[in-house]
Amino acid sequence: MSNPTEHDVVAALQSVRQQIIDMANRHGRDPADIQLLAVSKTKPIAAIEAAWSAGQHAFGENYPDEAVDKIMSLQDKAIDWHFIGAIQSRKAAALATHFSWVHGVDRLKVAKKLSDSRPADADPLNICIQVNIDKEASKSGVSPSETLALADECAELPGLRLRGLMAIPAPSTDTVVQRDAFSRLRNLFEQVKSTHTDLDTLSMGMSGDLDSAIAEGATIVRVGTAIFGARDTRA
Ligand SMILES: *Cc1c(COP(=O)(O)O)cnc(C)c1O
Repeated sequence: MSNPTEHDVVAALQSVRQQIIDMANRHGRDPADIQLLAVSKTKPIAAIEAAWSAGQHAFGENYPDEAVDKIMSLQDKAIDWHFIGAIQSRKAAALATHFSWVHGVDRLKVAKKLSDSRPADADPLNICIQVNIDKEASKSGVSPSETLALADECAELPGLRLRGLMAIPAPSTDTVVQRDAFSRLRNLFEQVKSTHTDLDTLSMGMSGDLDSAIAEGATIVRVGTAIFGARDTRA
């Protein structure tokens, strides 16, 4: 380990993995049901390679141009790329071409574009519907009351495979508040799943609210800072 950055990423990754196992056990869950998505936005390719060498094969990115550059540079590695940023409709084709998952689907127009642009020789694009669980004016996401209708529409699109729901609750350090938001998302998920029985993904939990998300049933946790360190403030 001549490169100190590499060493830091690998050690932090191992620590996050252990935390997920401990949290799962504490909340009576099987750690194998929780997938760690390493959020590498703004971080260099060397950091992704370091995590990859330590067995991390799913990465999350937020900015389409940056992400596509990284995906092209790392083509020789088997990586599951998840797009977790806000989706601009003019970028939908690039996302549908380069990613295997898109977590932030919150309107039919974007869902249709993703479906239409998915290459014919690829498996359907895995998607999560983003829910604006705390009804924040500033945040993207479909409102809870409109989630089922959007799920019905997305499920009909041939280029997509609807996997579940995703949310970014209003920031809070209070675990009671954190768990309340995640439990509302889980309830909504159960409701949607009663008609869409093959849903299997609840994408929730980041560095600051991991324990609450795991307690409330997260199946994908999206962790950036705790693995790769703080980002520049612009991100
Ligand atoms: C940046 C980001 C994350 C990771 O957040 P950290 O606090 O750095 O763990 C997770 N999810 C989404 C949607 C993000 O934009």
